[in-house]
Amino acid sequence: MEHPENNEKYKGLQVNGGVSSQPTVNPYRRPRSSRPRQFTAGEYVEGILKGDMSMLGRAVTLVESTADIHQALAQEVIEKCLPYTGNSKRIGITGVPGAGKSTSIDVFGLHVLKQGGKLAVLAIDPSSERTRGSILGDKTRMEKLSVEQNAFIRPSPSAGSLGGVARKTRETIALCEAAGYDTIFVETVGVGQSETAVHSMVDFFLLIQLAGTGDELQGIKRGIMEMADGIAINKADGDNVSRAELAAAQFRNALHLFPPTPSGWRPEVVTYSGYYELNIDKVWDMIDRYFEYVKQNGYFDKKRNEQAKYWMLETIDEQLRNDFYRRPEIKALLEQKELRVLNNEQSSFTAAHEVLERYFRIIEER
Ligand code: GDP
Repeated sequence: MEHPENNEKYKGLQVNGGVSSQPTVNPYRRPRSSRPRQFTAGEYVEGILKGDMSMLGRAVTLVESTADIHQALAQEVIEKCLPYTGNSKRIGITGVPGAGKSTSIDVFGLHVLKQGGKLAVLAIDPSSERTRGSILGDKTRMEKLSVEQNAFIRPSPSAGSLGGVARKTRETIALCEAAGYDTIFVETVGVGQSETAVHSMVDFFLLIQLAGTGDELQGIKRGIMEMADGIAINKADGDNVSRAELAAAQFRNALHLFPPTPSGWRPEVVTYSGYYELNIDKVWDMIDRYFEYVKQNGYFDKKRNEQAKYWMLETIDEQLRNDFYRRPEIKALLEQKELRVLNNEQSSFTAAHEVLERYFRIIEER
């Protein structure tokens, strides 16, 4: 385009046209493939068994992926790792937000490492489904542990149903064990269904509580207390020590009213301070004694076998459900039936029966 400054009046001044895009710095640069190299199952397994943390991380990412191709590879890796699993202490840790889980896991973790252990910290966080990011297991919450060579911290898998998230965490436990981690923490928020899932994959279940205003027992669901093998009352420091002791006495009394646990172990109550690192060894002594007790009376193996069976059934359940709800014919039929049921044109039971009938026919014709 002719520029006004190219006028005779401005002789000696030449204005050139611009360029629409900058030349690349290096015109010979070849674009790099954005796809990372895909490893074979054998390569994953070899890396994991060597304790290669980045390979372990990659394998966990596979486990968490929803893509069919990743799932198939993940299952192959897990199968190959299975002979090397089972050799860890699996410890579930729960407590309401603010109870001090992250602070405590940080110091409990250091305690494990000091004794020469290797620790993996995993999490099940149902709320991460909504926030699309995980809160639990976040590295920044565990400042001390996150810089340790022998600690592997992994946030909660975020996609899918609680059952799906829990299965992924359980599979991750297997991979971590194959990689030589001998202590596994599985953290969860003590407010919902996720405790049951965590309880079904750990050997010891620790409930972190706070001394409050005298009504400690009210904020927490009875079901969670029944699952606990130990209750640790946190923040027993400064002015709070006597209140924590009082709360401990109340919890002990409450626990007496519960039926005996299937292991025969009487759940204990201890007080400690995660922040000031007081009485951490008391918490750990309780956990050590529990493991000794259940290993001696055979409950340890019995519970693990029951858990294995439970997870097989859970997985069948989950896959059946996924298969059912994913089918377009079923989706469409369900919508129709829903309307009919809402309009009182059909009962819930016959509607359900007909949808299931259709599903079974589809399966048979396959
Ligand atoms: P989480 O939500 O259960 O993970 O709890 P956090 O570990 O984030 O702790 C919640 C708050 O309690 C933080 O401000 C901590 O500094 C504080 N806190 C944790 N443990 C202790 C403790 O032993 N004593 C005191 N006084 N404060 C603590």
